[in-house]
Amino acid sequence: MATTDEILQMMDEHSANNYYPLPIVIHKAEGVWVEDLNGHRYMDMLSAYSALNHGHRHPKIMQALQEQAGKVTLTSRAFQSEAFGIFVSKLAAYTGKDKILAMNTGAEAVETALKMARRWGYRIKGIPENQAEIIVCTGNFHGRTLSVTSFSSEEAYKRDFGPFTPGFRIIPYGDASALEQAITPNTAAFLVEPIQGEAGIVMPPEGYLTQVRELCRRHQILLMADEIQTGLGRTGRRFACDWEGVVPDVYILGKALGGGVLPVSAVAADREIMDVFEPGSHGSTFGGNPLASTVAAAALDVLEEEKLAERAETLGRLFMKKLTSISHPDIVSVRGRGLLIGLQLSVAARPYCEALARIGLLCKETHDTTIRFAPPLILSEEELEFALSRIGEVFTGQ
Ligand code: PLP
Repeated sequence: MATTDEILQMMDEHSANNYYPLPIVIHKAEGVWVEDLNGHRYMDMLSAYSALNHGHRHPKIMQALQEQAGKVTLTSRAFQSEAFGIFVSKLAAYTGKDKILAMNTGAEAVETALKMARRWGYRIKGIPENQAEIIVCTGNFHGRTLSVTSFSSEEAYKRDFGPFTPGFRIIPYGDASALEQAITPNTAAFLVEPIQGEAGIVMPPEGYLTQVRELCRRHQILLMADEIQTGLGRTGRRFACDWEGVVPDVYILGKALGGGVLPVSAVAADREIMDVFEPGSHGSTFGGNPLASTVAAAALDVLEEEKLAERAETLGRLFMKKLTSISHPDIVSVRGRGLLIGLQLSVAARPYCEALARIGLLCKETHDTTIRFAPPLILSEEELEFALSRIGEVFTGQ
């Protein structure tokens, strides 16, 4: 078996340098725990950026994976599969939408939604050809493809990647009147994260989603909620939009839809929107493959059977309460919903993440001064106490 240093050297020599990982080499994992090559155990408080809502290697999801792997793994969408049919009907029921378009990564699902919105704009709303506009927000994060990068407001994500895709307008996040002002007769859609995860767990003001829902309805604009990070129980509800009782026209899903096992993403919308796609207009070789479909269907079952959204709400409240009670000059605020929590510091978060890792807690800084806590939703109360004791130890030395 290779040593930690050997593996780190392999990465150094042969992996592209597009990430800045903590130097821990994970060897195996189960539930909320991971183990490195030297047998040290850590609690995973990042959950692969919310893709591990079910924890590592959830038994029911692993069983579904193995059973399906013994039957058929890939058909392409040139043929139908039993697994795909079951998956789309389950996800349609879960989202309350008529139809599902399955992709693989989050960014692909966002691209799919953008293409769908443009077509809907031309064919249903009557926007003149090639004039469709889509409104997005400052601080957005919707993935890394070129069109998605085109409307990022983050200089580091865009530098030297131009020229960019036109047709996007950026407005301040959380400001409904800015949306109203930005709307033109050519606006097809408003793409928004109900809570901005990558931006540092940024919460919009209370009532924002309700207001944008109303504006989109009034101006015949599709409200497209990117729930890739916030959906599937993470914030204590099925969708973060549920906190305001808001139903968007389009849900964009990914991450935990793959049950912590495979990349699975999807766009969910009603028939009159989704039907802008006809055969040949869009697709993906792996999107909706039988293995991914089986895993995603099992992931949806587990969310319901184990009431993971409810767990996230209860444990999230406890977590936030205890974090708020830590008094330390570097802590500015605690914000979040369910088990998507940001600890805002006045100093760099990275040294704190490194110190937490040394005592068995894996988390990651986001935007330099925020520590993101997003543990698997299957976390037990005892495990949460373990996490809190480690966080307390790093901040107060106790
Ligand atoms: N949208 C949101 C809100 C995300 O948080 C992410 C990933 O962090 C993405 C889209 C992109 O997903 P992926 O990395 O699977 O392409």
